[in-house]
Amino acid sequence: MNTQVLTESGKLEPTEELLAELAAKSEELETATPEEIIAWGAERFGAKLTMGTAFGPEGCTILYMLSKIAPNTPVFNLDTGYQFRETLALRDRIAEKLGIEVELMKPDLTVEEYEAQTGGLPLYKTNPTQCCFDRKITVLKRGAEGKHAWISAIRRDQSPDRAKASIVGWDKKFGLAKINPLANVTKSWVWRMITENDIPYNPLHDQGYTSIGCWPCTRAVGAGEDERAGRWSGFAKTECGLHTLDDDDNK
Ligand code: SF4
Repeated sequence: MNTQVLTESGKLEPTEELLAELAAKSEELETATPEEIIAWGAERFGAKLTMGTAFGPEGCTILYMLSKIAPNTPVFNLDTGYQFRETLALRDRIAEKLGIEVELMKPDLTVEEYEAQTGGLPLYKTNPTQCCFDRKITVLKRGAEGKHAWISAIRRDQSPDRAKASIVGWDKKFGLAKINPLANVTKSWVWRMITENDIPYNPLHDQGYTSIGCWPCTRAVGAGEDERAGRWSGFAKTECGLHTLDDDDNK
């Protein structure tokens, strides 16, 4: 059944039929493997499929799978200007080992220009939500242009918010279908994949950094802490806004 209707600008229209198709497929794929979910996304959306990654262990695992299933899928990274040098080096190691050249997508303003707007006081210290909006969300919206679906690497067991993610849903914020191939897997499953397949990963994970984002908003976590406790430590914020609950009609 073709449920696809496009807007004048070529975006996918979230018609009732499309949302029903995605919901039914999501249910059907609940017991599928991550590879099967990725293969479905690649076949269903073809060149209109994209992936965003921050090079976490889950993202690296999906990149490994994409290199086998759909290596021409365009993949981008939100290069905020505040990433760890280890993260940027991982981009090159992935390219060399897996043959996937992740595009670094940058905000319009450099870090220097951006911080000059607030008198040199970085916004991540006072208003990280605005900083994430300016340096991640707006850039992802640009990355979404001309695309119909994106793959994300979230797992349901990462946080109560992420626990509600569907395998496939509609992402209102970006006007894309969203595919979560790893929704049902665990952290130990991901690390087993990495070890068994020698998938490149961020060396900061060996130094107590369980979840890695921008360096000003990331710290290593102690024993017994939640795996995302090191993100925006000291703020109530737990997500950068890319994966917040209300983005998905099907949750
Ligand atoms: S994670 Fe921190 S530095 Fe990075 S965009 Fe968000 S607030 Fe800014």
